Amino acid sequence: MNALQIPDFVRAQDAADPLRGRRAQFILPEGVIYLDGNSLGPATYAGLAALEQASHGEWAQGLIRSWNDAAWVSLGQRLGAQIAPLIGAAADEVVVADSTSINCYKALHAACAMRPERSVIVAEAGSFPTDLYMAEGVVANLRDHRLRLEGRDAESIDDLINEHAAVVLVNHVDYRTGRLRDMAALNARIHAAGALSVWDLSHSAGALPVHLAADGADFAIGCGYKYLNGGPGAPAYIYAARRHHAGLQQPLSGWWGHARPFDFVPEYEPITGVGRLQVGTPSVLAMRTLEGALSVWDGVDLAQLRGKSLALAKLFIDTAEGASTDLGLRLASPRVDAERGSQVSFSHPDAYPVMQALIERGIIGDFRAPDLLRFGFAPLYLSYSEVWLAAQTLIDVLRSGLWRQERFARRAAAT
Ligand SMILES: *Cc1c(COP(=O)(O)O)cnc(C)c1O
Repeated sequence: MNALQIPDFVRAQDAADPLRGRRAQFILPEGVIYLDGNSLGPATYAGLAALEQASHGEWAQGLIRSWNDAAWVSLGQRLGAQIAPLIGAAADEVVVADSTSINCYKALHAACAMRPERSVIVAEAGSFPTDLYMAEGVVANLRDHRLRLEGRDAESIDDLINEHAAVVLVNHVDYRTGRLRDMAALNARIHAAGALSVWDLSHSAGALPVHLAADGADFAIGCGYKYLNGGPGAPAYIYAARRHHAGLQQPLSGWWGHARPFDFVPEYEPITGVGRLQVGTPSVLAMRTLEGALSVWDGVDLAQLRGKSLALAKLFIDTAEGASTDLGLRLASPRVDAERGSQVSFSHPDAYPVMQALIERGIIGDFRAPDLLRFGFAPLYLSYSEVWLAAQTLIDVLRSGLWRQERFARRAAAT
């Protein structure tokens, strides 16, 4: 594939790219074009340096003294403050703790507690499944609560948002299709009905500007290991609008959310603010890795990030669809920029083996059941040339029938 000549117009896009210098902060293996940063972000030099310092220095040498000397105690708040500008929040409205699944549980529970006279959680049948599983858990633990789903109980989420709805849990960007919700409009609709919102930002934060406060969001949660590059299983974050801090109920009342954890008193007394959404001792090495990785965002202009993300996606779509013969690809993502996050999905009847063949050719995207080829565009490290080459390789894999070879049909545990 490298024999392919990158066209001049693609080279020109790279030359004019204001973000092209950012790639040097990422560790990417030779011979790979990585279009799966929406599932597991790559390592960063700063992240691994922070991990090295935290393990060999702060832990090995500092030992228990590092809780104070390296300020491990305040990692949750410190990282929350680092993420806040990426999601349009104030520094004291975000805390890093636990996983997205657990934060989903906490946010749903906190929202339901603020609407005790209401008993419905509204969500999307097509939601990232763990969010639904956690919602089921909340429903099972609250008397008389029910889960109502867009795509199952009604066609449109609008039809489920009424006087019974306590909370509406939505994905800002759909993990399969990349569809982007209009956050301001949906929050207005939710609030007009007297309900609260919980936004899952796992596929938007770090890929496009998010304006939680300006758009009126109540709660939000999101992932540390996708576009934020914190490392496999990196800690997640949770946002609560400041107007909700006074009445914030934490269902998992652990000592890390206590006002004075080191007083070791028998009664739980929550700390004021978003800090109470912490539960237990943070995973310090993972937190420190994420802290380092977040430094790649210093000085990044999110409007530039969005501009490049959309341009990469357009180049990919145009190149893949530009093949003269019908290769069975159908665009599964919105074609309109304003309705799409930072990924492009194509459906193909043989999406699984096609993706395995592409991966063998060094183009790493992923497969999502039942028939989606998913490609994520992380603008900080991808070039236009890579995206053009990836689309050309996809065409080549389909035209040549490479994917029909038997070894590509075997399913691995994780896709
Ligand atoms: C990746 C992802 C999660 C992951 O949750 P974990 O608890 O980290 O496993 C949750 N929600 C969405 C929308 C995701 O994309």
